[in-house]
Amino acid sequence: MIPEKIEHIGIAVKNIEESLKYYEGVLGLKCYKIEEVPDQKVKTAFMMVGETKLELLESTSDDGPIGKFIEKKGEGIHHIAFAVTDLAERLREVEEKGIQLIDKVPRKGAEGLSIAFLHPKSTQSILTELCEKPKD
Ligand code: ZN
Repeated sequence: MIPEKIEHIGIAVKNIEESLKYYEGVLGLKCYKIEEVPDQKVKTAFMMVGETKLELLESTSDDGPIGKFIEKKGEGIHHIAFAVTDLAERLREVEEKGIQLIDKVPRKGAEGLSIAFLHPKSTQSILTELCEKPKD
């Protein structure tokens, strides 16, 4: 597998509006979309930095994955997402190499992407997301 690029970096925040004061007000980035992903109990805000996105993640519930993450570790980098092609095939490939999968099959993520997470236990402690643009 050779990732095409870093598709996005996911950053856990307590409050998107507050965080945008830094990302927009200081760094001068522009949030182009805020989207809720109900099955992940999360609200996401997107900004482009060149070809890479920043994805701010705010929990909509204390028992959601981001709520738990912030409770344990505080705000900060939550995951890195690599763009790949043929995601289902890539998952088989890394599983064969002994990587523990959180998602055995691709599922639908924000921005219409197909996504799957690899367990940080087997990815150098960084929660890793593989994602694929839907073919049009
Ligand atoms: Zn992500």
